[in-house]
Amino acid sequence: MDRYEQVIELAKRRGFLWNSFELYGGTAGFYDYGPLGSTLKRRIEHIWRELYVIQEGFMEIECPTVGIEEIFVASGHVGGFSDPLCECKQCGEAFRADHLIKHIVEEADGLTDEELDRTIAQNNVKCPECGGDLGNAYDFNLMFKTQIGPGNGRKGYLRPETAQGMFVDFMRLARYYRDKLPFGATQIGKSYRNEISPRQGVIRLREFTQAEAEIFIDPRTKTHPNIQRFENTVLNLYSDASQDKGESEIMTVREAVDKGSIAHEFLAYQVALVNYFLQRVGIAPDKLRFRQHRKDEMAHYAIDCWDAEILTERFGWVEVVGIADRTDYDLSAHANMSKTELSVYIEYEQPRMMEKFVVKPNMGKMGPMFKGKAKVVAEALKALAQEALEKEEIKVLVDGEEITIPRDMVEFAQETIKVSGENIVPHVIEPSFGIDRILYSVMEHAYDEEIVPAKDTTDDTEDEARIVMRFMKEIAPIKVAVLPLMTKEELIEPAKQIAARLRDKGILVAYDDSGTIGRRYRRNDEIGTPYCVTIDYDTLEDNTVTIRDRDSMQQVRASVDTIDDVLYEMIYRERKLETAGKPL
Ligand code: AMP
Repeated sequence: MDRYEQVIELAKRRGFLWNSFELYGGTAGFYDYGPLGSTLKRRIEHIWRELYVIQEGFMEIECPTVGIEEIFVASGHVGGFSDPLCECKQCGEAFRADHLIKHIVEEADGLTDEELDRTIAQNNVKCPECGGDLGNAYDFNLMFKTQIGPGNGRKGYLRPETAQGMFVDFMRLARYYRDKLPFGATQIGKSYRNEISPRQGVIRLREFTQAEAEIFIDPRTKTHPNIQRFENTVLNLYSDASQDKGESEIMTVREAVDKGSIAHEFLAYQVALVNYFLQRVGIAPDKLRFRQHRKDEMAHYAIDCWDAEILTERFGWVEVVGIADRTDYDLSAHANMSKTELSVYIEYEQPRMMEKFVVKPNMGKMGPMFKGKAKVVAEALKALAQEALEKEEIKVLVDGEEITIPRDMVEFAQETIKVSGENIVPHVIEPSFGIDRILYSVMEHAYDEEIVPAKDTTDDTEDEARIVMRFMKEIAPIKVAVLPLMTKEELIEPAKQIAARLRDKGILVAYDDSGTIGRRYRRNDEIGTPYCVTIDYDTLEDNTVTIRDRDSMQQVRASVDTIDDVLYEMIYRERKLETAGKPL
């Protein structure tokens, strides 16, 4: 078994992850989260919310997972969100054409369908399932199509990302934030991509959870007011230049900005925040890097993009977060499609004096000529561009009727006016997280196996392999296991009382009284429970219990009176095990 199989085997057996629709044989690309998996996922999302919603102030919104066609035409998903599909002529199995030649061409995902066909033919690539001949590659759109309403109702798509909701709601969000840049909005929710042949378990899903922030900034100032928080943070950067050398570079956030590795300070802050989040949920720092998109790989509108990549044993470096400066692309695309201006009014620090070409309709002459329409004609005149006013004949369109205005009815002037601001289209900085990939990586990095000689432990076990999930305490699904040493009424009763008190503190507790104490410790190590509390006969004598630490297997005795507060501090406030017996 490789590490992926070990983790997935444990995940299935202990209720983290299950294949969806198992009862009916299952389907690739879907996973259920069992009781511990759901809890773990919520805890990861909770920390994400703490960072992005509470600390950064990017309020969360919730939009439908079904979207109407216009959204995805504007975003480019209808036109271009596809992967090259290639089918076996013999068995009909479908494959990602670029994946079939990954061992031949390093950068296969940028090739055209014709280039893919040529490479497949020249290298005599056959169907991996049956050895049959492969058909030509063609683009397969990854969106799940649906229909809104009965009959020939409106075309709809399951959203392939949560981001579009924030763009479509831009004007509402701008009002909410009183038009003050920068502001941001977030969304955590399901996204759908009809992946061609997902053979990578939880890494490539057809339904997955994204957590995205869309941060709208003033394009003229890409500094970050809070950059000092991360200035000395060390990042593992695999920049465009270092990819040529094949080696990533370690540098501080400040160095990365000063050297121009990361395009600007605001983006660098976001990279550092992702770095902080991933390590806080338990990603090993030495298995985390930020890879810059190469020039030919980056979307044409983007200024700079970085992927947070995590090293996994089976899949190598896996992209888990994309962080990009998307410029004004998304807002401009939706503005064009919806014919609505998507901008904010920015007030200058000092009003500016500007030369302005002004049109002065002579109402004394226009009134008698246009009568009741004079006012609308004058307004239409003022709205004309300078070129139209300089033509031989001045024409305006009023209620669909073209009206010619004699030149002597209009005067022009060049005036100096005071301008206090302008409308601008904000730029978008987007960190986009794939929660499922992060969850899997957290499990893989937490997974540990060790042989514990019986003489080195008070766990009352034989020499045996111990599997332990070394989850960060704040993300461990179950925080405390409460264990009466024996199934005796006099121990069960106080154990249940302690469990109830911990629950009152908001701590998720498992009560377990079946099997030897050593077995119960091992069961809890395997699901990453940071602490076990054991109630024994001394408890009845001196009102103390044993707290056992998952990682060190050390045990200390602590008073029952304060056990709830002590454990809370140990889980959430870094209180050390050695001090568990001391007063609060
Ligand atoms: P993207 O919009 O393609 O940049 O995706 C953003 C993030 O969503 C990626 O970094 C992944 O973590 C995650 N993601 C994308 N596609 C999938 C998928 N098929 N299954 C699971 N996660 C995905």
